[in-house]
Amino acid sequence: MLSVEEARKRILDATRVLPPEKLRIMDCLGYVLAEDVHAAEHIPPFRNSAMDGYAVVAEDTQSASKDFPIQLSIVESIPAGYAPTECVASGQAARIMTGAMMPNGADAVVMIEETQCEKNQVKVLDSVEKDENVRFAGESVMQGDLVMSRGKQIHPPEISMLASLNLPAVEVHKRPKVAVISTGDELTPLGGPLKPGKIRDSNRYGICAQIQEANCFPIDMGIATDDEVVLERKFRDAVGQADAVVTSGGVSVGDHDSVRAVLARMGEINFWRVAMKPGKPQAYGFIDGVPIFGLPGNPVSSLVVFELFVRPALLKMAGHSDLLRPTFQAILDDDVVNRDGRVNFLRTIITSRNGKFHAQTTGPQGSGILYSLVLANGFIIIPAGATIKAGQTVEAQLLKC
Ligand code: AMP
Ligand code: MG
Repeated sequence: MLSVEEARKRILDATRVLPPEKLRIMDCLGYVLAEDVHAAEHIPPFRNSAMDGYAVVAEDTQSASKDFPIQLSIVESIPAGYAPTECVASGQAARIMTGAMMPNGADAVVMIEETQCEKNQVKVLDSVEKDENVRFAGESVMQGDLVMSRGKQIHPPEISMLASLNLPAVEVHKRPKVAVISTGDELTPLGGPLKPGKIRDSNRYGICAQIQEANCFPIDMGIATDDEVVLERKFRDAVGQADAVVTSGGVSVGDHDSVRAVLARMGEINFWRVAMKPGKPQAYGFIDGVPIFGLPGNPVSSLVVFELFVRPALLKMAGHSDLLRPTFQAILDDDVVNRDGRVNFLRTIITSRNGKFHAQTTGPQGSGILYSLVLANGFIIIPAGATIKAGQTVEAQLLKC
């Protein structure tokens, strides 16, 4: 059996980053930059005021106070968006609004709250230092600077920055389109009545949602029966349009576990037993160069295996380098014994109390008990054979934030 880390390493080593595409920055949220971004101009582009107030010669104000204000004559008023037309000399001031261009001669701005205006004169009630309340050209970013490197994920501030840099579109890595196939003769689509022996197909919905949560695009391929001919047709259809394929069910050792057989015939496939619970049996491989992730059918196993292996692979395809969710230490609220030789991913409610994280398991942990994941907001990771008592710490991971 492979360890979780070994299995993940094999998958990630074989995972290729998707090629870039040029997207409008309005559509770039969550994407990863595929190019370095340099500044073609200074930001801000010119020296401007950080306050509503008066642009002055700082030295003029050195002795200014409420009791002994100094008086300056106002040469003009400069709103944001307009260039000054006058110079400011000693004894003068220009009324100036936040973001407006600083006039030549002035080297500081007195905020409006520290002044009293009388017609075309202003009394300054406090001194300012040279450069006070002035923003310099290039103070945020200098022309020629490397502002963002390839590999950086685009969040709202990055989109604002791209707009500041006058870039309406950028090169980003494509995000994978992922085909999802549920397999099993027992699966019934939503809506119709359940015949004896049948169940609802829940995994397909959950997997599509996990793909969306990873900022990728699910392609819902519906349900395949356990008939190998039906499954083969679905696979052909899926690899023709997707960057990756995820199946659920049919990878174990049962009589009708046809995913294994069909994958082996159509492509290059590894059948793995991973030393983890839930989710031991898994299939992974390629058909026509498209990666195939065969998840186990049990609903908890399917969601956990996606989380541990498929999600990091999809993130890598989309250009990310930070592929794993962070782990942290949490205090156990109940005793936990792992009698297995496999690492256990227990569904847990993680809370923060008195500045410490606490973890409480969500009751029955069978791999078919989907409700354990509905109650949980994270995992705790219990090493093989470990006994951990209430009050001791465990490694934990948040899934829902
Ligand atoms: P399998 O991996 O095909 O042996 O399935 C293991 C268990 O998961 C069985 O109880 C299946 O009925 C159940 N199962 C398989 N696929 C799904 C699905 N798409 N939704 C819900 N349960 C499923
Ligand atoms: Mg099955």
